[in-house]
Amino acid sequence: MSLPIEIAGLLRQNVTITWDDDHVSVYPSRDLRLHCRCAECVHEWSGQPLLDPSKIPERLTVKHIEIVGQYAVRFEFSDGHGLGIYRFRELRERCPCEACVAALAARPPAPGPSIGIPINRKPTP
Ligand SMILES: [Zn+2]
Ligand SMILES: [Zn+2]
Repeated sequence: MSLPIEIAGLLRQNVTITWDDDHVSVYPSRDLRLHCRCAECVHEWSGQPLLDPSKIPERLTVKHIEIVGQYAVRFEFSDGHGLGIYRFRELRERCPCEACVAALAARPPAPGPSIGIPINRKPTP
């Protein structure tokens, strides 16, 4: 797993992460905010989004960056929201650069849970 060696972007509209394999990812702060997975933004059980994107200011900035343990980072945004924890692995997967977006699109879809499990079919009459 790649780990960030530098996270920059305080009071800017982009957060730049430099990874230990020299890859650089630039995330618009507003996109990070929109992908917040905290209990206030996404329903804990149903996964239903509770966040209204129209309520997020266009010129959102990050006003605080904090490393959480060994695996994640917490951003506090200029709209006052700061509950979201972003795992490095997910951030790297969501790297918006052209190469990563292309690699993600080329990846075969993850096997669904039904693979290998017999599906109950209605008996044919
Ligand atoms: Zn949130
Ligand atoms: Zn990338």
